[in-house]
Amino acid sequence: MSTLKAVRGTRDLLPPETALWNRIEETARRVFARYNFGEIRTPVFEDTALFARGVGEETDIVSKEMYTWEDRERFDVSGMSSSWLHQNSGFTHSESNVKLGEHTIDLVITRDATLRTHDQSPSPITVTELVQFKPELKQYDVDRLIELVEEFVTSTGNALVLGKLVVPETRNLQATGHPDTQHRVFVEQIAGNFFQSSQRLTLRPENTAGVVRAYIEHNLGETGQLQKLFYIGPQFRRERPQKGRYRQFSQIGAEVIGPPSAGSESPLRDAEVLEMLATLLDELEITGWTLNINSVGSAADRARYNEVLRAALADVAGKMCGDCQRRAVTNPLRVLDCKVEADQAYIEALPRMADSLDEESKAHFAAVTAALDEAGVEYTRNHRLVRGLDYYTRTTFEFTHGGLGAQNALLGGGRYDGLSEAIGGPKAPGIGFAMGEDRLVLTLEAQEEAKAEKVDAYIAPLGEGMNAAALALSRELRRAGLRVELGDGSFRLKKSFEAADKTARRIVILGEDELKSGILTVKEFASGEQSKVARTELKMILAMAAKA
Ligand code: ATP
Ligand code: MG
Repeated sequence: MSTLKAVRGTRDLLPPETALWNRIEETARRVFARYNFGEIRTPVFEDTALFARGVGEETDIVSKEMYTWEDRERFDVSGMSSSWLHQNSGFTHSESNVKLGEHTIDLVITRDATLRTHDQSPSPITVTELVQFKPELKQYDVDRLIELVEEFVTSTGNALVLGKLVVPETRNLQATGHPDTQHRVFVEQIAGNFFQSSQRLTLRPENTAGVVRAYIEHNLGETGQLQKLFYIGPQFRRERPQKGRYRQFSQIGAEVIGPPSAGSESPLRDAEVLEMLATLLDELEITGWTLNINSVGSAADRARYNEVLRAALADVAGKMCGDCQRRAVTNPLRVLDCKVEADQAYIEALPRMADSLDEESKAHFAAVTAALDEAGVEYTRNHRLVRGLDYYTRTTFEFTHGGLGAQNALLGGGRYDGLSEAIGGPKAPGIGFAMGEDRLVLTLEAQEEAKAEKVDAYIAPLGEGMNAAALALSRELRRAGLRVELGDGSFRLKKSFEAADKTARRIVILGEDELKSGILTVKEFASGEQSKVARTELKMILAMAAKA
């Protein structure tokens, strides 16, 4: 027999790794508490329509990544039996779930009134009925009931026993010929729909739609207060599994949502959420992250920008990748997400969202950045950050980390002023984020590894002519107490990078230009950051990093 394994894209988390997961969650809970967020737990599956409307039909998530199924209809036995009992009340004493030999019968009814249907005799008579409820009638059911009646007669000595099969009238699909009345088994039909209808359900691919649904369902807006809610839990997307990308993954997220009168539209809320995230990452001891922010404006701004882009793309789209050619027509904004190398120059030259913002959106964004500046939270404006979900308005953001490689987004989020209304709720502007817990774990593990084993720098001479100078530089650093690995000028640059990545936290490149100018190129592997460093400062920078 073939062995069973965890499904592709899912994983077991084992000790000691689970300790790290717990530490991350504890830190998150501690920080959220300090900002007065409370926990919300929503179901892991929801009506498919929630995501279709709340996330957007056009998004990658909804159009290709959701786990959706048709939940089969179910027969509601207890609904049918209580309805039947109600219709027969006054005639019956009932006992349900009575054991009969090996079997349980749904109901044992003792009628102490006159039989209503088959016996017109006026004298009161007590009849025991064994009643079973069935969505469909099969000969098997009739046979079983006949057996049970006989068993009951034998065990109780009660001669007045009726077996009764009750079926919903519209579903008596396979009614068997004629139940044998000699064996005292009757079929009764009862009107009513006792089928719980089928439903399309989806494993949640993200949690914001669920939180907003709960906000609406429980009328949280009526409190007049801002709701500050966080969640921690699994999400599901059918993606191609790779490092940092799984089909079941965990997100830690939070939402600030409420009626406008509670201040939910204020740019201060955006800045506070971003400041909280910077604090959280710092407390998790994740170093080297970058905060990218942008504004996608109001729905009207975005519509306007889409038209500006559409016009600008009319000339260049033909030279771009297939996806972009399609997006240029259907959803021009998505062109900004394109990762194809050859398209980058065209995209950089496109008009910017910033120029399509109206005065209000501009002022809102300026207020967010002003608050961040004042609080000392560093950020980079990224004009291309539009994010994958349709519901974003105004502020969008992403925290990235170079150490994660292709899956470099640690977390993403933004403002979603129209989401509640899009899923049938009241006006409830909000802002939120979701961080990939799996990616936090990967980042922390990589940092630990880098700290534990790697030397401070790898010196890579560019060409054999640089070997002697590289030895001199290594000597200088080693004498300063740094741990240094010395490469070789015969290595191609790519080989030097590979060797360096395995053994050192940074690579220092030494070519003729560097030697002459005294400005060296240094790349830190964990963050992916590359910088120019004066040779005179190299020792100090490496020593500081070694201590950190
Ligand atoms: P990506 O560009 O990496 O696909 P996304 O835009 O689809 O990210 P969001 O929907 O914004 O991601 O989700 C927020 C965060 O959840 C991401 O920044 C990432 O850290 C994490 N995440 C998203 N999809 C996955 C996945 N399949 N596996 C692990 N983490 C994920
Ligand atoms: Mg994705």
